[in-house]
Order: sequence, then C-alpha cells, then structure tokens
Amino acid sequence: MDYFRGFEKNSAVRGIFGEETEKVLRNLKVDFIWFGYMGVSDDDGHLMVNKRYLSTGRTEDIYLDVIHELCHVKQHMEGKELFDPRYDYVDRPTEIEAYRYAVQEAKRIGLSAAEIRVYLKTEMMSTQTLDKLIKNMNINIEKS
Ligand SMILES: [Zn+2]
Repeated sequence: MDYFRGFEKNSAVRGIFGEETEKVLRNLKVDFIWFGYMGVSDDDGHLMVNKRYLSTGRTEDIYLDVIHELCHVKQHMEGKELFDPRYDYVDRPTEIEAYRYAVQEAKRIGLSAAEIRVYLKTEMMSTQTLDKLIKNMNINIEKS
C-alpha cells in the first residue's frame, strides 16, 4: 500500500482477494531487488520488484505484472507450490492461472491481441513457447 498506491480499490485485485484485499495488501511486504522483473518469494509469499524495471518499464507491463504476481501471492496463501519443478514454466498451473488473469485484465484495459502478445513474450521466451503459453491459457486474445 505504500509503494503501489490505490491497488486495494482496483477491481482486478479485488477479484483476487475479495473481502481480504485491504488486509492482504496492508501486510504484503515489497522487497526491491536489482534483477529480473517481479516475483513472489516461495518462502513467505512477499513481493519482489526490480527497482530498475519500475523506473524503465512500460506502465501497462508493470501494472499487468503486479496483477500477475498478486495471483501468485494468493496461490502462496492457499499453500500452492509456486515453482513446481515437474512443469516447464509455460505448463505450470500456477503460471497459467496468473497469466490468464493478467490477460483478462489486459483486454479489459484495452490492449489489442498484438499488444498482449508483446506483453507476454519476454526475452527468454521463443515464439513457439509463447504460442504454447497462449494455447495453455485457453483464452482468445483476439476478442473480449
Ligand atoms: Zn508468474
């Protein structure tokens, strides 16, 4: 609540935590790191954010990443294994759920299918892997 202002009023965030939204966000620790983008600690479920990404990333990307990571916060609260090594990244159920939710929000804020593909494709992801992720999400990014 100190660093990401107003998220407790955001409909997508409320969709994740419901009545518990304020309580969860008030207690959610944010750790500033110097690598990657954003992540959630598998130990205690706190949020880790690259400070450089916050100052150089695109606003929509950062916003959607926060939504994605908050899904992981919720999954961690439910006792789910966030980094289950039995799955490849794009096949992991916790990732598919978080990506689906972020893409739903991306559509709501008006991103086009092409923009959503750009958002989803990180530099470590090949086009085939991206297509697999989109297929796994079982979501039509062309239309709302
Ligand atoms: Zn994730």
